[in-house]
Order: sequence, then structure tokens, then C-alpha cells
Amino acid sequence: MTPAGGARVSIAALRLVVRAAPGWLIAHVALTLAGALLPVAVALLTKLTLDELGGARSHGDLPVLAAALAVLGLLATALPELDQYVRAEQERTAALVAQEQLFLAVDRIVGLRPFEDPRFLDRLRLAQQSGGNTPSGLVDGWLSIARGVLTAAGFLGALLVLSPVMTGIIVASMVPALIAERALARRRAAMIWANSPTERREMLYGFLLVDARAAQEVRLFGIGAFLRGRMLAARRVTDSEHRRQDRRELRYQSGLGLLSAMVAGGGLVFAIFGAKAGTLTIGDVALFVATVGGVQGALHTVVRSLARVHQERLNFEHYLGVTSAAADLPVAADAWTLAPLRNGIELRDVWFRYTPDGPWVLRGVDLVIPHGTSVALVGRNGAGKSTLVKLLCRLYDPTRGSISWDGTDIRDVDPAVLRRRIGAVFQEFVRYDLTGAENIALGDLTRIAERDALVDAARTAGVHEALAALPKGYDTLLSRSFYDEQDDEDVGGMLSGGQWQRIALARCLLRHDRDLLILDEPSSGLDAEAEHEIHDRISRLRSGRTSLLISHRLGAIRSADRIVVLDDGRITEAGSHSALLARNGSYARLFRLQAAGYRDTPVPAAPLS
Ligand code: ADP
Ligand code: MG
Repeated sequence: MTPAGGARVSIAALRLVVRAAPGWLIAHVALTLAGALLPVAVALLTKLTLDELGGARSHGDLPVLAAALAVLGLLATALPELDQYVRAEQERTAALVAQEQLFLAVDRIVGLRPFEDPRFLDRLRLAQQSGGNTPSGLVDGWLSIARGVLTAAGFLGALLVLSPVMTGIIVASMVPALIAERALARRRAAMIWANSPTERREMLYGFLLVDARAAQEVRLFGIGAFLRGRMLAARRVTDSEHRRQDRRELRYQSGLGLLSAMVAGGGLVFAIFGAKAGTLTIGDVALFVATVGGVQGALHTVVRSLARVHQERLNFEHYLGVTSAAADLPVAADAWTLAPLRNGIELRDVWFRYTPDGPWVLRGVDLVIPHGTSVALVGRNGAGKSTLVKLLCRLYDPTRGSISWDGTDIRDVDPAVLRRRIGAVFQEFVRYDLTGAENIALGDLTRIAERDALVDAARTAGVHEALAALPKGYDTLLSRSFYDEQDDEDVGGMLSGGQWQRIALARCLLRHDRDLLILDEPSSGLDAEAEHEIHDRISRLRSGRTSLLISHRLGAIRSADRIVVLDDGRITEAGSHSALLARNGSYARLFRLQAAGYRDTPVPAAPLS
């Protein structure tokens, strides 16, 4: 980090804290500065008092001096306590804002790519780890430096009068400490960054060991020891890195400690001999002793705080890296509206790959989804079907080619507006640790209070009975990870995989008024009877609507207006069910194979496409 870059980062942190907690910051600064000058004032008053007692001055001021010393003593105990409270309050207030900004930035990410970028994930973790305390930490680090400098300057000013030589020696003795601490801080920051992927892996293994969904496989396959071994191995790697850094710091710090002890000892001898020779008063000796200790303490604070500032600055750089990242996908600023679909959606020569040097997943796909028709997409695992769905939702942009909505390139549309027009059940849908009603309402949060609409969606998806039978009906928490907050009772409900799939479908159905309905293998977790029934419902729902259905159960999609076969990223066949059967290509082959599976007498398996 260049000094200019470092200053920019510190200023950004200061700006955040000033905006979030101006009052608390001012109070913290005032208390810090008062705390900085307090020891100097105590040392000076002590010297004056001792000089009066030693007869170097008249006794008239003694009661005043004693009273002042008592007040300062009181302040010396009260100020740090007060400052600690004020600082904590300032930190909390700023941290809340910092966390909000961080997660706002994460929410602003348009597509999925950053979530698949390990470097971004490391950065996000480091930005998140400090719990938003980094900006305050940075400001506080600078304040400690100011405080140390102020205390040291006060003491040194007093010492300069007594002995310019000693002043010079003390200052010079701190230079190696400054240099060493800076280098140590840089190393520590580099170590933390280098350790980040290993720490994330450790967390991942730990998570698998306690995750309820992983528990059955972990037990059946007996992989607990394997995962634990990997978790601990990762921990040992980062531990040894930490140990090496700690030892390095111990070596440096012992050396530096020895140096300052020698300077302090030398100074003391010098002062005692000065007093004996009559060049210094007893008060001077007391001031001298206080100064050597005070300056060393203060400069030590400065050195330590510089290291801390360096560290926090690097943490905050990660934070800024996330909050001020350039948009991951270009978002047109001027096209904020999108008229309801009238003509259709068109993919024109769409090529796509997930990484710049990865394999092509889609290779020149031309596909029209006319308004009001149902299109079915079939193809083997890995053919690129789910990828195509993600491109339609603009979770990625095509590497080449374009997707248009009534002729408007979807890259020119606000992604949020586009997505509001789409209802989807993804192949990898999410099971939220929320109530049944909430799990459905997430499809359209504006209707969260419309219980009838939620029940309707649940009925159509065929999950109403299951939800109604739960201990608290739709308001049952669909999780065993949490207590019910209201009555502190363990009344969580567990659903089967197929029931969860229906919940996901109900969530999508709540958006049935959307222009485009996407169903990516919505029935893969269902039994044959349920599948038939769901497909019946879906096709009734789809009629007259624009929809894209992906299923490997060909019986379910034979009624689609248009069936498209995707093979290895290319469209190889397209047409109605009867047209494709007449064509006698791979669809026809696959359809006959599946149909044979339902007949009584097995026929020899035909080769797959
Ligand atoms: P389908 O839904 O037809 O089974 P997908 O569209 O899910 O296939 O996947 C198509 C290809 O893209 C597969 O080879 C898969 O490995 C790859 N793929 C899918 N998702 C990602 C991803 N996030 N990053 C990299 N490759 C991916
Ligand atoms: Mg898929």
C-alpha cells in the first residue's frame, strides 16, 4: 500500500465514523486528549510539590498543589473508565452502519460470478470478520498515536529543559522499535491474507460436521473422522503460521524491551548523580524518572498503534474492496422500465462459459420463447439447461450473443425489474429456516399478510395438507435449528424432500402473475403419482402463459407447445412432441425408452442418444 493509498483508506474510515457517530467520536477524542495530558500534569505537579517540601520554594502553595494532585488522581481513575464506555458506544454505532453498508454492497451484486470467485470470498470474509469494527479501530489507532505523541511531547518538553542529551537518547532508542513494529505489522497482515483460504476450508469442514442435512451421510458413510481430520489439519497449518509470527514478534519485542530498559537505567543513574552533585533538585529527579517512564510508555503506545493502524488499514481495504467494487455486471442507468411481455423472448447465437478459459457450456444457442407458449427443454445432465435458465434471469451475461425481451436486450434492463417479471423454481432451490407461511411468502413479500394467497399457492403445489397438519400450521418453523421465539417451545417441523420441493413450487406460484414462468426440474423429488398430479397442475397453470419447463421425465412435457433438445450446449432438435417423434431422432429414442420403462414387458434398452 502506498502512503497516499493508506491515507485514502484512513480518511474513508474516518468519514464513515464521523457520519455514523459524530457525537460519540467527539466525546472520545476529547477524553483521549485529556487522558494524554493528564500524566504530564501529574508529573509536573509532583515535581513542584516535592520541591516545596524539599525547601526549594516557599510553602504557600502546598495545599493548592495537594488539592490539585488529588483532583488529577481522581480524574486519572475516572477518565479511562468513561473513555472506555464512550469508545465502546462509538464503536457499536459505527459498526452497525459499517455492517449495513457491507451487506448493502453484497446485495448490490447483480450476478453470481463474485460468489464463485475465491479471492472475492476471502476478501468478503475478512471484511465481515471484524464485525464492522475496523473503521473505528482505524480511527482509534490514529487517536492512540495522537495521544502517545502528545504525552511524549509534553514529557520531552519538560525533560528537554533538564537534559537535552537524555532527551535525544530516549527519542533515538525508539527509532528501531518504530521500524521493527511496522515490518511486523506488514508481515502479520500478509500472513492473515495467506491463511484466509485455509481458514475458510476449516470452517467448511466444521460446518459439514454440524449441519443437520449432512448428518445422515456423515453417519452412514462414517466420514466424521475424515472431515474432522481435514478440519484439524487446516487448523494446524494456520496455527503454525500464527506461531511463527508470534515467535518473530517475541524476538523483536524482547530485544526492544532490553533496549528501553537500558536507556531507562542509564537515565536513572545520570539523574541520581546529578542530584548528588547538586545540579538537580529532588523534584527534578522525580520528574526525570516520571519522564523516562512516561515517554517510553507513550512512544511504545505510538509504535504499537502504528502497527495496529497498519493492520486495520489492510482490513479496511478489504472492506472498501467489497463496498466500492465495480458492478459485476453492467447495469444500464437509463432503462429502468420493462413493458409486460407481448411478443416473446429470443436468444440469438448465445455462447457461454463460466470462466474465460473454461469449456463452452452453451455453443451458439438460437431459441425463441414466443409469448403465451410453453417451451420444454430436455437434455442430458450437464447439457447446459440450468445454465440457460440462469442467463435468462441475468445471473450471468452471455459470453457472446444476446438475449432479448420483446426486442430489448436484457442487459439494458434493470436486473431487479427483469426479475420481478419472472417466476422460477430453480433446480437448487433453498430451504429457509423460516415458518411455512414465510417460506411461501418469500416468492412475493408484498403478499406476506395475505394468508389466502399463501394457502392457494400451497394448495396448487399440493403441500397445503402437510403444512396445515404441522403443530402450528402454516406458522410452524420449518427448522429444527431454532427455538420458536414466541413460546420458547421446540415445535419446529421437518418436511420431506418432496414436500420441500412443493414449497419451492408454491413460492413460485405466488408469482403466477409474472410474464415468464421457469421450472427447472420441479418434480425430480416427487413420487410418480405426485409428479403426474403436479404436472397436471403446472400445465393448467402454463396454458396461455409463457413458460419454460425443464424435465427429464418426457411424459411430463409432451404437452408443451414446443420441445427443444439441448445436447452439449447446442440445440439439436426442436418441435412439437409428435413432430419430434416423427423425426425419430434422439428425443424419439429417449421417449420410447422411458415409455418402455412403464410397460410390463421390458424391451432391450436403446442406446442413449
Ligand atoms: P444441466 O442443467 O443441463 O444438467 P448445467 O447447466 O447445470 O447442466 O451445467 C452445464 C455445465 O456447466 C456442466 O458441465 C457443469 O459442470 C458446468 N457448470 C454449471 N455450473 C457451473 C458453475 N457455477 N461454474 C462452472 N461450471 C459450471
Ligand atoms: Mg440442471
